[in-house]
Amino acid sequence: MAEGLKRAAVIGGGYAGIAAALKLAENGIPVTLFEAGKVLGGRARVVDHHGIRLDNGQHLLLGAYRETLGMIGRVGVREAFFRLPLALTVPGRFALRTPALPAPFHLLLGLLNAQGLPLGERLSAIRFALRLRLMGFRLMQDSSVADLLQKHGQDKNIGRLLWEPLCLAALNTPIDQASAQVFLNVLRDSFSHARSDSDLVLPRVDLSALFPDAAAGLIRKLGGNILTSRRIKRIETADPGFTMHWEGGAENFTHVICAAAPQHALPLLSELPELASVAELIQKFSYQPIATIYLQYPQQVQLPQPMLGLNGGWAQWVFDRGQTHGTPGLLAVVISAEGEYQQVPAEQLATRIATELKQVFELPEPLWHKVIVEKRATFACMAGLERPDQRTGLRGFFLAGDYTAGDYPATIEGAVRSGVKCAELVSDSISN
Ligand SMILES: Cc1cc2nc3c(=O)[nH]c(=O)nc-3n(C[C@H](O)[C@H](O)[C@H](O)COP(=O)(O)OP(=O)(O)OC[C@H]3O[C@@H](n4cnc5c(N)ncnc54)[C@H](O)[C@@H]3O)c2cc1C
Repeated sequence: MAEGLKRAAVIGGGYAGIAAALKLAENGIPVTLFEAGKVLGGRARVVDHHGIRLDNGQHLLLGAYRETLGMIGRVGVREAFFRLPLALTVPGRFALRTPALPAPFHLLLGLLNAQGLPLGERLSAIRFALRLRLMGFRLMQDSSVADLLQKHGQDKNIGRLLWEPLCLAALNTPIDQASAQVFLNVLRDSFSHARSDSDLVLPRVDLSALFPDAAAGLIRKLGGNILTSRRIKRIETADPGFTMHWEGGAENFTHVICAAAPQHALPLLSELPELASVAELIQKFSYQPIATIYLQYPQQVQLPQPMLGLNGGWAQWVFDRGQTHGTPGLLAVVISAEGEYQQVPAEQLATRIATELKQVFELPEPLWHKVIVEKRATFACMAGLERPDQRTGLRGFFLAGDYTAGDYPATIEGAVRSGVKCAELVSDSISN
């Protein structure tokens, strides 16, 4: 490597790595991104099913995801989203609609008028929301979401119909383990500023097309390199910087952003003695699954809304991809976090979910199904979990990814924010 030439490597082409590489390229820093898989997107990527573009998992974003929405806007994907004002409906059981009022009044009035809850619980939910605001959405000490709900009298119907599904959707961790502080961070960002922060933002295109593919095009245009099917096997410290090794090759870089998921980052980091404390933190992580069950019905099948809650069975949410992705009759059912469903073969799971849907909607038999269970969909966002910082003890080496330190649980927004932060740290270190 020529003396004085600064070059950055990014390991991983998920949303965190792509965001980091894009920001570096925009800042004029030569960057090469290494992605082990054939497609970009990582845990938010396209899956081809007989020529139909599905996702490895149905995703939902929030209006508060500013960094992600801003970046997607910048790379120029047109009509990327279907945006809905917050409305949570569990057909026949519960409905929360938010009127066109500024935050937080839209939520407070929505709670007051929620259908399916006794008046006492609705008033108590309003008191809870006001109390959280007074507390600045901060806890003196983290606890589980279940403890928080119980302490504030939110553990009855409203817990089952509203708070628990919201917690599972946001943190993908059962409420008796999930971090109340991280849950409050999401509630704070969704409910205390602009009304549109609580919008439900549904992608209209597959998750690789939504951001990673278009961003990769822009990174290349700016002079960066994107290498797919290129797994980094080993990282060595060099003078200056680092040597990245892959099957059949090696190259030196002055700066590295490791944006692999924690379980994949661990073997790489474990070989660098300076990162022993980071490896120790990651070893304490546990993981939670998410299942997405795609059911294709005849094209005329359409749900009353693009996204609905479900209660009482295994299915938690159903999305109508006909309304969002232009694939009529295709429904995607989501089951977050661990559960009995993990013990059931895919065929049986699809049949059971189709039966559950039939109990709620008038539906014929599905024409085909595709079950995708991501066993390590997210890290378990446990109360009190310590997460590694983006800056490490090794000069020039940074960590990005949804699991690194930040306000958010494992989400696209958490991943993108961490990537942007790492790119800024690299840029600062180069300019100083
Ligand atoms: C089924 C499912 C549903 C989800 N639903 C939502 C949702 O509704 N809303 C939301 O915000 N979030 C959701 N998430 C979480 C979200 O997808 C993740 O938080 C986010 O995609 C993580 O991005 P990342 O870049 O940190 O990691 P990853 O996406 O895991 O990216 C890491 C990348 O690194 C690559 N890699 C690993 N090791 C190497 C190596 N040695 N060399 C080169 N490359 C390597 C991997 O192939 C991967 O592409 C969901 C996740 C799943 C799985």
